[in-house]
Amino acid sequence: MAGLAGGAGSIDGRAGVRLPAPGTVDLLRALQRQVPALVVALALLLGAAGTYAATAVLGHARDLALETARVRAGSLARAYAEHVRQTVRRLDTALLHLRDEYGQDPAAFPARAPLQARLHAELAFQAVVADAAGRVVFSHPVPAAAPVLVDDRAYFRAHRDDPADRLRVSEPMVGRISGQPTLQFSRPVRLPGGGFGGVILLSVDPAGLGRFHDAAELGPAGFELLLGTDGVPRGGSRAGVAGLLPPGFPERDGEGVVRLRGPDGADRLVAYRRLAGEGLVAVVALDEAMAMAGYLGHRRSMLDVALVVAPTVLGALLAVAWLAHLQARQQHRLAEAQARLAETEERWRLALDAVGDGVWDWDAASGNVFYSPRWKAMLGYGEDELSPRIEEWESRIHPDDLDRTHADLDRHLRGEMPVYANEHRMRCKDGRYKWILDRGVVVSRAPDGTPLRAVGTHTDLTGRREATAALERQRAELQRSNEELEAFAYVASHDLRQPLRTIGAYLTLLEKDLAGKLDEDSRECIHFARAGARRMDRLVVDLLEYSRVGRRAKPSKAWSAGPVLEAAVAGLEADIAEAGARVGLPAAFPTLWGDGDELVRLFANLLGNAVKYRAPGRPPLVRVTWATADGMAHFRVADNGIGIPADALERVFGIFQRLHGQGEYEGTGIGLAICRKVAERHGGRIWAEAVPGEGSTFHVTLPLAPGEGA
Ligand code: ADP
Repeated sequence: MAGLAGGAGSIDGRAGVRLPAPGTVDLLRALQRQVPALVVALALLLGAAGTYAATAVLGHARDLALETARVRAGSLARAYAEHVRQTVRRLDTALLHLRDEYGQDPAAFPARAPLQARLHAELAFQAVVADAAGRVVFSHPVPAAAPVLVDDRAYFRAHRDDPADRLRVSEPMVGRISGQPTLQFSRPVRLPGGGFGGVILLSVDPAGLGRFHDAAELGPAGFELLLGTDGVPRGGSRAGVAGLLPPGFPERDGEGVVRLRGPDGADRLVAYRRLAGEGLVAVVALDEAMAMAGYLGHRRSMLDVALVVAPTVLGALLAVAWLAHLQARQQHRLAEAQARLAETEERWRLALDAVGDGVWDWDAASGNVFYSPRWKAMLGYGEDELSPRIEEWESRIHPDDLDRTHADLDRHLRGEMPVYANEHRMRCKDGRYKWILDRGVVVSRAPDGTPLRAVGTHTDLTGRREATAALERQRAELQRSNEELEAFAYVASHDLRQPLRTIGAYLTLLEKDLAGKLDEDSRECIHFARAGARRMDRLVVDLLEYSRVGRRAKPSKAWSAGPVLEAAVAGLEADIAEAGARVGLPAAFPTLWGDGDELVRLFANLLGNAVKYRAPGRPPLVRVTWATADGMAHFRVADNGIGIPADALERVFGIFQRLHGQGEYEGTGIGLAICRKVAERHGGRIWAEAVPGEGSTFHVTLPLAPGEGA
């Protein structure tokens, strides 16, 4: 018991969990319900913002990559143009050298030309000289196998018709000596007088002239192209690339870079540069896909990252939304459960308040005891007046009840009693004591059986105890006065008989002494006086008998009803014979429990009355039957006598209650009162039914002996 220390419970509504104000709670709950939607909206917003940012970054990177590619294409075109310009210059230089050689001595030229040609060996050309008529007079290194005429060639005619000494670059054509595609660089040959003396030309492979950069530098779809300002291609990195450009390209003079999609579907950055002096345009087409490879790779990685990151972030957000949703749902359920709990506690509190019981709740962990307001009020204390300590209870128990209370509680705590229940007195605030019924039960125990929590109630027994005590006092008083009364009746009736007998004796003496001296009237007077004394004696005897019932009670015993009834009949033999009555007893009998003499008296009175109150001219027929009912033997004593009026059926059981005068039927009116006293003393009942003029039936229930069947 010493280990008990108080705990806080929540049975009383006011001791429950403190919650925020209802309005705030509703707002919080409403917000909480919106959390999943807010998270989804945030996810969408983040997705949109991410997409926008990625698009902007990628757009910027693409512009940057495109600009870089443009610049690069421009540089390549410039380098290409420079290469072409240098090559053309060198070819022109070689042409001028050879023409000088030829001009100095045409006859010696065939011998000297190869030497000159070797000086420009890296240019790989075929040198050809044609005379003013267009006949090829010299060809090196491949000699003309047969006479060749070039007078029909455009460059020949141009030189012949144009007095200016200018370098001409032909369209690509098949060389008449080499039979190969060639590009012919030509200058006029002047006769010593200044007349047209023919042309000297260098025939070169157009492919060699048009190719400068590595194919890898330009990309798979890239190419280089050397165009004449007439729009006719002069050479290029590959055959047929001119067809990839739109007709009339380039639209402008000078230089520039344009983005073009070719008929092959490939996008290119095409840079061009016009070589004004040479009548050529150097064109470099850069494969855009290659030029933008860095950007595209960057874009792919960004997309890859986005493909991984976006679903992850989205998934995480959705998970958060889902969790928030779950939490909101959980919160909702919790709130509902709390509401239900509060409702239950309120109901519980109201029920306890209605019953008027106080509640205590002991918590072993905190060592505290919660005392409900009603618990405190029962002892006259306010809600804030007692601390939640076990001493508050213990110190108020009446010293005489303390050990007993501790013993009972300890027995329950040890598990020896299923419920702790004890009645003890407790001191109230005003110093008075109240009887309290203290009940409780351990509601949780540690695995080793140590009590962890116990709850219980206090019921105020003061009123009940006082009522019980008052009843007990009344009962004792009644019993005492009853006993006194019975003792008085016994003594009185006993003592009354003596003077009655004396009166009777003296009346007899008087009658004898005065015999013959008395007249008829006086004799009659003496006779009445003696009859009165006799009747008085009968009354006293019956009263004595009535008061004896229960006074000399013997211990209860089992009595077979057969001998009891037979004894009763035997006592009435004379009356039965005189009346010519027939008494029918049952064939079998139950065994009764009680006082044999009193049971005989009961049946003797009933049978005697049945014979006595017979109808004139009708021999009495009495019948006794029985049955068991509610664990008792139920006897019926029926006769065919005069019967009893309905309004007297209960009255006849009263003491000295008679329905007839002495002249009609003799009696004192005590027989049935004795029957009732005997029946009730045995725990049974007696009552009557009757039809006036036809007969009466007396019912009596008596206890069966233990073990008698129901
Ligand atoms: P007593 O027989 O001495 O008058 P009881 O107490 O035995 O007194 O009976 C009370 C009255 O009940 C009787 O006076 C009689 O009027 C009536 N009574 C009793 N038994 C019967 C019966 N079997 N039939 C008719 N009346 C009866």
